[in-house]
Amino acid sequence: MTTPQPQPAPAADDRTYEVRTFGCQMNVHDSERLSGLLEAAGLTKSGPETSTADVVVFNTCAVRENADNKLYGNLGILAPIKEKRPDMQIAVGGCLAQKDRETILAKAPWVDVVFGTHNVGSLPTLLERARHNNEAQLEILESLDVFPSTLPTKRDNVYAGWVSISVGCNNTCTFCIVPALRGKERDRRPGDILAEVQALVDDGAIEVTLLGQNVNSYGVEFGDRFAFGKLLRACGEIDGLERVRFTSPHPAAFTDDVIDAMAETPNAMPQLHMPLQSGSDKVLKDMRRSYRSKKFLGILDKVRERIPHAAITTDIIVGFPGETEEDFQATLDVVEASRFSSAFTFQYSKRPGTPAAELADQLPKAVVQERYERLVALQDRISAEENRKQVGRQVHVMVTAGSGRKSEETGRLSGRAEDQRLVHFSVPEGGQTPRPGDVVTVPVTAAAPFHLLADPAGVESYALRRTRAGDAWDRSQAESCGVPAQPAAAGGRGVSLGMPSIGVRS
Ligand code: SF4
Repeated sequence: MTTPQPQPAPAADDRTYEVRTFGCQMNVHDSERLSGLLEAAGLTKSGPETSTADVVVFNTCAVRENADNKLYGNLGILAPIKEKRPDMQIAVGGCLAQKDRETILAKAPWVDVVFGTHNVGSLPTLLERARHNNEAQLEILESLDVFPSTLPTKRDNVYAGWVSISVGCNNTCTFCIVPALRGKERDRRPGDILAEVQALVDDGAIEVTLLGQNVNSYGVEFGDRFAFGKLLRACGEIDGLERVRFTSPHPAAFTDDVIDAMAETPNAMPQLHMPLQSGSDKVLKDMRRSYRSKKFLGILDKVRERIPHAAITTDIIVGFPGETEEDFQATLDVVEASRFSSAFTFQYSKRPGTPAAELADQLPKAVVQERYERLVALQDRISAEENRKQVGRQVHVMVTAGSGRKSEETGRLSGRAEDQRLVHFSVPEGGQTPRPGDVVTVPVTAAAPFHLLADPAGVESYALRRTRAGDAWDRSQAESCGVPAQPAAAGGRGVSLGMPSIGVRS
């Protein structure tokens, strides 16, 4: 090993940062706050062209399999870089940090800061203290100090934003580590939430997603069980807010007033993501999920009765301990009946610290794999069938930044329909190219299980609506390049270059 050569620490303003996010949307949103805090402290985001940033923050997840391996693998890669650049700082936060605490410093002593899910706001102070004292800092709080939404946020995009309405969860699903790591549900006051939504809209956003582990129990803390439906309706009153979504509801707490609010609020989007987890009532009981498959299907019927075009998506766990072939068949039956437009499917894996990890009857990997493949094949078929029904329909697509390799090859742009389906569309000859945040209306011309294609035959079947969000996108690009905003080029085709991609669920 070479002895590290001390180098002068760069001034706070010169330092760059990078936040690497693992896990769920809650983490993606927390990472936006981490970025906001670091920028407020004077750091700038490192670009893809630069070498490893001066401050690297891992926002970890304890829910997914191999989360620890993934983190320690990444930390291992950074160890030699840190050895060469001792002023570089590495911080680890999120659920795994909340759970593993000092283990992280024991296994990776080159880490500078470990912080938990309840003290995201302390990161800049902890980094500064670690630098000043030349000593690793560990700070984990057991409960929430400041509601995270009051912290500065650096959003990944200007046209859409996430707003936390609650954190934590009062449920006790036996496979889930969230209650242990995120604590009891804490609800944010409606006035604060609406003020944040309004601030996002004032900044140019036209879409907002309300975020909570269990949005249907929102209000439990201040004694209003209809609070969530009221909140949706209040979002409907916000001028300039075009699209309101939420995640995630819990079937046990899903009440009709929420369906009414969804149906009667014009900017509430025709989309619902509602976790099924299992179609077997016995497995649901073992999971300590208090609804049964009949109730789940009943909610879907009511939603479709009021919002016929609603696209419904779900989460399903395959191979929960004790799941029999009969139980699994019940899941397949509910999936068949539910006609989900898509599903996030997971193979059950033990999470240390959860009650389910202690259950006897853990299933062999081969059994879980085989069932998983059957479930995925079924859902892929249903997704393809449901998407095919969209062919010929006109869809309003909000254009998103970033494009996959395929889009670069085909020249198509991408966006989300009102029901959240992914749409790849082409701009016809003579049509104006939209900016991220603009809305185009296009006919669906083909469908695949995971996306729709829309290739308008000509300008007469293509409509572009330039939005405030597109203007905000222009401004943000101009600010980041240091050049004045330009109107989007007319008549162009293809994908704009240099657009950062939005955060996606991994
Ligand atoms: S509802 Fe269940 S799965 Fe969801 S966060 Fe709460 S305990 Fe976890």
